[in-house]
Amino acid sequence: MRGAVLYGPRDVRVEARDDPKIVEPTDAIIRLSATCICGSDLWPYRGLDAAEGPSPMGHEYAGIVQEVGSEVRSISPGQFVVGSFFASDNTCELCQAGYQSACVHRQGVGDAQAEYLRVPLADGTLVATPEIPPDDLVPSLLAASDVLGTGWFGAVAANVGPGKTVAVVGDGAVGLLAVLAARQLGAERIIAMSRHQPRQKLALEFGATDIVEERGDEGVVGIKELTSGLGAHSVVEAVGTQESMLQAIRSTRPGGHVGYVGVAHGVELPGTELFFSHVRLHGGPAPVRRFLPELIDLIWNRQLDPGKVFDLTLPLEQAAEGYRAMDERRAIKALLWP
Ligand SMILES: [Zn+2]
Repeated sequence: MRGAVLYGPRDVRVEARDDPKIVEPTDAIIRLSATCICGSDLWPYRGLDAAEGPSPMGHEYAGIVQEVGSEVRSISPGQFVVGSFFASDNTCELCQAGYQSACVHRQGVGDAQAEYLRVPLADGTLVATPEIPPDDLVPSLLAASDVLGTGWFGAVAANVGPGKTVAVVGDGAVGLLAVLAARQLGAERIIAMSRHQPRQKLALEFGATDIVEERGDEGVVGIKELTSGLGAHSVVEAVGTQESMLQAIRSTRPGGHVGYVGVAHGVELPGTELFFSHVRLHGGPAPVRRFLPELIDLIWNRQLDPGKVFDLTLPLEQAAEGYRAMDERRAIKALLWP
């Protein structure tokens, strides 16, 4: 099969790779209908996460089941399925509590920017659609695999609900889909923090009511000005830097919630400031599996169109251009057709 491999900073190549095979009897092999490049893939791409040798890339996937192991019961060949970046048994105590991304048997799923993918713990990890989807639904179903599920978790972790004022720090795909999640979850006012016009436009389409262009402490002032000096009830942090995390905490009113879903890089929190903030923090790698059945249903019934975040579509062979476009912020998110 063909698959994308990162050889070093800004060096992505699509090359021939071994087809994945069933290793454990709980595995499934799927043929990817579409895959994509994640904002978090840019950390190793930029050399900010050390990569040990050539690394197969990608962790977002949707496609048709080709083969299942002998112990797989609920998933069968021919089904269209969506899974997430952590495989989970969906039966342990942590999964049952909705934290499948902390499953006691969790395994990372990687190597998804390719034609075929091995998914461990298939019964617990994969969710099948009612039928094979029409082509135009595939991008939205793929978005559910990570960026929608992650934005949704950010909104849930930030306790978004009816009557709430929500601020979203970060205008990447996850931040934009946190806006969409906040609207779906009934937020009254949704403030998107973005200085990029095409992203502002998409945020408004997804349900943002206000835009704040400033960032850092100037962005905090912007949020306070829109909230009678109090701060937002719910703030989603979707970047993962020191500046964005403090921006999120300082934009939240006492008693409010921050849902942090940007992968933290070098974030250190000041204890004294936290102590006096009265802000609740929750986040981490999103338990996307918790939300997949509901998200697939909303997409299937065309109530949500998260696939709009893909503003660049390329054949898998041109994955390197997808990385370049996202690195240079020419694209929000690149979809790759295998
Ligand atoms: Zn589990």
